[in-house]
Amino acid sequence: MDLSRHYAETQDAQDSIGHFRSLFYIPDNELVYYDGNSLGRLPLATRERLREAIDREWGHDLIRGWDVWIDLARSAGDILAASVLHVAPGEVILSDSTSVNLYKLAAAALDARPGRRAIVIDDDNFPTDRYVLEGLAAARGLELRVVETDIDAGIDPARVAAALDDDVALVCLSHVAYRSGAIADMVAITTAAHRVGALTLWDLCHSAGAVRVPLRESGADLAVGCTYKYLNAGPGAPAFLYVRRDLQEALRQPIWGWFGRRDQFAMAAGYDPAESIDRYLVGTPPVLGGYAVIEGARITAEAGVDALAAKGQRLTEYTNQLAQEWLGPRLTLASPADPRRRGSHVTFRSPEAWQMCQALKAAGVIPDFRTPERLRIGLAPLYTRFVDVYDGMARLRDIVESDAHLSYPAELGRVT
Ligand SMILES: *Cc1c(COP(=O)(O)O)cnc(C)c1O
Repeated sequence: MDLSRHYAETQDAQDSIGHFRSLFYIPDNELVYYDGNSLGRLPLATRERLREAIDREWGHDLIRGWDVWIDLARSAGDILAASVLHVAPGEVILSDSTSVNLYKLAAAALDARPGRRAIVIDDDNFPTDRYVLEGLAAARGLELRVVETDIDAGIDPARVAAALDDDVALVCLSHVAYRSGAIADMVAITTAAHRVGALTLWDLCHSAGAVRVPLRESGADLAVGCTYKYLNAGPGAPAFLYVRRDLQEALRQPIWGWFGRRDQFAMAAGYDPAESIDRYLVGTPPVLGGYAVIEGARITAEAGVDALAAKGQRLTEYTNQLAQEWLGPRLTLASPADPRRRGSHVTFRSPEAWQMCQALKAAGVIPDFRTPERLRIGLAPLYTRFVDVYDGMARLRDIVESDAHLSYPAELGRVT
């Protein structure tokens, strides 16, 4: 392969969505950022929108701002539905965090399958997902069936199918694995779950804005996801949830807040849930975060998820090729080898991964370490260039060739 930097420059020059980088605030062009899958960059439009919202809407309009803010959760949800998730308006809404939405929808699903005593999850799901479902199972005395998943290859649909029977109420999994980036077969798994009458709940945190999510094609029932990763809505921005239209009124979520009530401002006695996705709301929405979601989703919509996914595959594959050429046996691919089978991040394995991670940060490259022994490289396609791949991997090559990373502690820090 062509190992020159010129090759990367040529790829950038031909990149049909390369100009989207200019829509982001990038104060340090030398910094190589491989963590857009954990916290996306700040869009310039968001900075402007938030300044305006703070000064004009909060500062000047004060409580009168609610005339506009009251519809924000829904309008942000509709933008995500149309441009990121490819489902209908009214099927997605912005609310709470991913963890809380997961709890709400999982509880709603369990209530909708009374008499069934089992929940199917896998042992490699993101920790918050596993804990939330453990907690629900414990509180209700349900059986948690934990399917074994290879941490690199991803979820095996046959293993999930083998855990299914007519006692299963809910199957809850991630679409794109947070560590390896492996994409789960949402169509096969949802079909198998539906065959036994179970509902499916998908975590889309590493999918939204990175890959096509086959919610429609699979007939998936429920989904949650965050907006601060590929959707660039900022730290702690509100999450989204999806409930398929025909299920919305059959399901009820367990936190009966006033924003979920029909005719909210009647302030009436008794909880009576709205007849729409609004019933999945709880309380006052985070307005500033909501604006950030709208601006971030707009950029994603403009680039188009298919173009983003295609570039993501090319970036992860280029990273993998450079890693193989330059770092050979000291760094091995841990993600699925077929770029179509992974999201927009790629993960490598080395017993020295944590030390490499620390040395890279000191050299102006920000990757992620994920236990065990995994170096995770996130390549958010909206603003990551091929030269970023080249420069970061070249710095890693130089570090490893000189063993510079071995001077960093091998013991893990508190935040990795
Ligand atoms: C990032 C991430 C989360 C985060 O959940 P929060 O409630 O926002 O902390 C959950 N699930 C997965 C799969 C993630 O990648």
